[in-house]
Amino acid sequence: MLELSNSKILLDCGSGSTWKLAGLGINYLMIDHIFLSHLHPDHTGDLVPFLFATKYAYGSPYGSYREKPLYLWGGEGFINFFNTLRVAYKDWIVPEALNVDELEESTKEFNDFTLTSVRTPHIESSMAYRIEAEGKSIVYSGDTDYSESFIELSTDTDVLLIECALASDESKLEGHLTPSKVIEIVNISKAKKVVVTHLYPRCDQERVVETIGANVGVEVIEAQDLLEIEI
Ligand SMILES: [Zn+2]
Ligand SMILES: [Zn+2]
Repeated sequence: MLELSNSKILLDCGSGSTWKLAGLGINYLMIDHIFLSHLHPDHTGDLVPFLFATKYAYGSPYGSYREKPLYLWGGEGFINFFNTLRVAYKDWIVPEALNVDELEESTKEFNDFTLTSVRTPHIESSMAYRIEAEGKSIVYSGDTDYSESFIELSTDTDVLLIECALASDESKLEGHLTPSKVIEIVNISKAKKVVVTHLYPRCDQERVVETIGANVGVEVIEAQDLLEIEI
């Protein structure tokens, strides 16, 4: 969750996101935008609970139902994905003032931030996002393999939230990064701070985050549930 001067943004909505927001004392009814990197279940699993809770918030500790618009964004095919969910869940997942739209590779201006999106080599609809506000920036890789356009998106960013699903080059699978690829991306892009996420269990045994940290000249930390970072 990104908290800007006005907007609150969710980057993906994986399992448990709504509950975790409540645990942080953040009113989920105040989220303005959800940008989905792609439509795999680990990135969209809480979308239905989020929307259902948004529609039926009566009597919640927050005291009201949602008053401002909610914007859901995804890459190509997202509208069809949402309409398919709606076949199953009907209007129970359609709160008032819901807007569902798709993003192409572009730069888009919002009231207090700028969003740049590029496609990533993962699945057809996958996107990475750069959000800039008040002279600061964060880049979120979503799921990705090595890509020149992703490096360009990450140039000089203040925070690079990057996936590293795979523990080593020996276990390389198409569509995900290994430590050596992350190191290359960080060093070329000159990202200023790195947060490594989407680590498969094997990465813990192989000390992936330490390896990345030892090979780049900037701070590298491991993403954790409820970790807070000021940019
Ligand atoms: Zn994925
Ligand atoms: Zn994933």
